[in-house]
Amino acid sequence: MAGAKAKNQAKIELGASQPFQAEVAKLLSLMVHSVYSDRDVFLRELISNASDALDKLRYESIAKPELLEKEPELSITIAADKAAGTLTVTDTGIGMSAEELASHLGTIARSGTEAFVEKAKGDVNLIGRFGVGFYAAFMVADKMEVTSRKAGSAKAHLWTSDGLGSFTVSEAERGPRGTRIVLHLKKNAQDYLESWKIESVVKVYSDHIAHPIKLAEDRDTARQINSASAIWARPKAEVTEEQHKEFYQALAHVSGDPALTLHYKAEGRNEYQVLLYVPGERPFDLYDPQRKGRQKLYVRRVFIADDAELLPAYLRFVRGVVDSADMPLNLSREMLQNNPDVAAVRKALTNRVLSELKKLSEKDKDAFGKIWDLYAPVIKEGLYEDFERREEIFEFARFKSTKAEALTLRDYVNGLKENQTAIYYITAEDAAKAAASPQLEGYRARDIEVLLLTDPVDSFWVRTAMGFDGKPFVSVNQGASDLDKIKPAAAKDEKKPDDLSLGKLIASLKAALGERVKDVRMSDRLTDSAVCIVNDSHLDRALERMLSRQKDSGVSISAPVLEINGGHAMIKALALKADAGGDLADAAHLLLDQAFILEGEVVADPAGFARRLSALMGKLYS
Ligand code: ADP
Repeated sequence: MAGAKAKNQAKIELGASQPFQAEVAKLLSLMVHSVYSDRDVFLRELISNASDALDKLRYESIAKPELLEKEPELSITIAADKAAGTLTVTDTGIGMSAEELASHLGTIARSGTEAFVEKAKGDVNLIGRFGVGFYAAFMVADKMEVTSRKAGSAKAHLWTSDGLGSFTVSEAERGPRGTRIVLHLKKNAQDYLESWKIESVVKVYSDHIAHPIKLAEDRDTARQINSASAIWARPKAEVTEEQHKEFYQALAHVSGDPALTLHYKAEGRNEYQVLLYVPGERPFDLYDPQRKGRQKLYVRRVFIADDAELLPAYLRFVRGVVDSADMPLNLSREMLQNNPDVAAVRKALTNRVLSELKKLSEKDKDAFGKIWDLYAPVIKEGLYEDFERREEIFEFARFKSTKAEALTLRDYVNGLKENQTAIYYITAEDAAKAAASPQLEGYRARDIEVLLLTDPVDSFWVRTAMGFDGKPFVSVNQGASDLDKIKPAAAKDEKKPDDLSLGKLIASLKAALGERVKDVRMSDRLTDSAVCIVNDSHLDRALERMLSRQKDSGVSISAPVLEINGGHAMIKALALKADAGGDLADAAHLLLDQAFILEGEVVADPAGFARRLSALMGKLYS
């Protein structure tokens, strides 16, 4: 994978043994002791690195042809030496300097590594999912020697390691440009020395590699063993599902099947071939803060970049290739940002991916549901980052609600109650918490569906979205509710205390609570619970809570509005007490603390809470 770079390049001491970065050491110990059944992938990883190195050289030689020296051939050669027990993979690519050998083959830049190592401890099958790259070779080798000469450089270097914690880089005799990797195969991996075995592994995993892969049968003859035809350039009908799967696995360094394949040729002002996959399993770096996309840009089969941002960040999980027929080959990475053709491709590609998702959501609910379950939190970033396409995303987005597991907004709107003019939602950390919120009671009583938004990203888009189909999104725990316009499903005939006594209760609660609340008022949100808190500010209570936990947000949690349920027996009793002029200070604080606890918020004065509760119980039981 040529993806995550930025490896640190410290000065190195030639000839001295150096420790691997701690994460590599852990990864290696996984490899060395692995009983991972799919060991074949090590060859795929080495070939894919070799192919990337050839791509890089071809790209750089466009501006600097002298880099090709007198050896213009770009190829990969595999040779087996049965007597010595070694397998050698050689490429004539860009090569590595001494510093690069040490940093690239001593550290891992790929994000999510730590999470992977943690997770993989007990599960070697995860190795296939993570794509461990170069280090996978230690599944089959107990010693590796990597000799490399960087294109344009006179010096060559040798990297050696037994994979047990350290490696050495030393000077080597000048050889051909590129990299030669010698694997000293473990006793139980000698089958990789057989031609048929090498050939079958290459066919399965690396047939599509656009450079020739040769098998050296003896000193002088080498036979090409891959077809080297770019799979994306072939007509759609000619590529089998099996071939797609192999290409996808090699491209994404994963096992399993893609959840969606998109293969087409765009014609018109820009001409390009597209082959994209939605991975069937969530990549380890999905939530990496860099949010890097992984689509490769080629121009007429020449690799240009894998960070051309061909799709917006909220579609970063989509893997694949775009091969342009008409962009200039000398497109530098900097120019990619501002190139109008790239921008046009990006726009068309984004539209196409979204429209395919929508199509799938209509055609095959289960297949779409799988994709949505994997990537919803990321796709929903698009709802506030890509205003232009928000409506389109809304067309297929699905949500949990108080009535359904996966509901579209269209379904929601079709089920609106008489006089209901808004789409109601509640945000919470999980669906169970959300569903248990007292604020929902009044909605349930009126049979009104409420969306349960439980991804952190939901709080953000729902605030900026204007609504759907003309109906605004309204939080059930923010502001005054407008439920009085909508008839309860079964009207409860409980008598509410008259306004006057409630007025007195509200006044005494307010006086007792002072600054702790912004207001105290009657609620039509509640049917069973006595109290709840809501926000009157521009922030929904749950979002305010979430932001207040983030260090730099500058948001702190504000005094809430305490809403009381006039139909509740305890509130009625308190109202009578208020009428009679009784002291309600302790009751007021207990009511508010109770509401805080229901929200999962901390009680500001736990000692006071305990004292009041004990006093109350004391009265009850004495
Ligand atoms: P990844 O390929 O995912 O970056 P690897 O561990 O497989 O991770 O390789 C680490 C890095 O080492 C590569 O990104 C590349 O820079 C360098 N590298 C590996 N093999 C070669 C090679 N054959 N030629 C040049 N560079 C290589």
